[in-house]
Amino acid sequence: MRVAIVGVQGDVEEHVLATKRALKNLKIDGEVVATRRKGVVSKSDAVILPGGESTTISKLIFSDGIADEILQLAEEGKPVMGTCAGLILLSKYGDEQVEKTDTKLLGLLDAKVKRNAFGRQRESFQVPLEVKHVGKFEAVFIRAPAIVEVSKDVEVLATLENFIVAARQKNVLGLAFHPELTNDARIHEFFLKIGES
Ligand code: GLN
Repeated sequence: MRVAIVGVQGDVEEHVLATKRALKNLKIDGEVVATRRKGVVSKSDAVILPGGESTTISKLIFSDGIADEILQLAEEGKPVMGTCAGLILLSKYGDEQVEKTDTKLLGLLDAKVKRNAFGRQRESFQVPLEVKHVGKFEAVFIRAPAIVEVSKDVEVLATLENFIVAARQKNVLGLAFHPELTNDARIHEFFLKIGES
């Protein structure tokens, strides 16, 4: 199994390590490739869009054709995960910040996201979260977005305060937090198997 991490910017190396750990735990033979160029995602069996700055990542993936490759993989039913800024990019609708900055979204998750949803006072924090299909998970939030609305096709996996912070639509998984920043690889394991169910 080949997993691509879109390494345009952000916490790429942490996702590489977490994915390797998950493959090992699941006893799946595989490789993890970080990429900034077109041509790798299309030859992969799963793809992760890390956190970072959504406006910057959006520009890069749409100008380079990586966006089309992600859409193609999703269409084929392969696992696609976005964390933090990656969640924003997966979503169908953004907030006024997304509109003001003309940030193009992939629209794979029928959800509306709000950037920096937890405010300036709480830039980063860690909380134990109950995540459906996974269990209790220590979730690290960094200037995190959140989902404020979903369609009935989207399964809500975790909530915090009044926000949805993890959701899934078939093979597409979006998380407001950073599962790659803890040693616990269970979310990456869940993600690698998501195409099967
Ligand atoms: N605040 C960032 C954005 O809206 C996302 C933060 C992150 O990915 N850690 O683009």
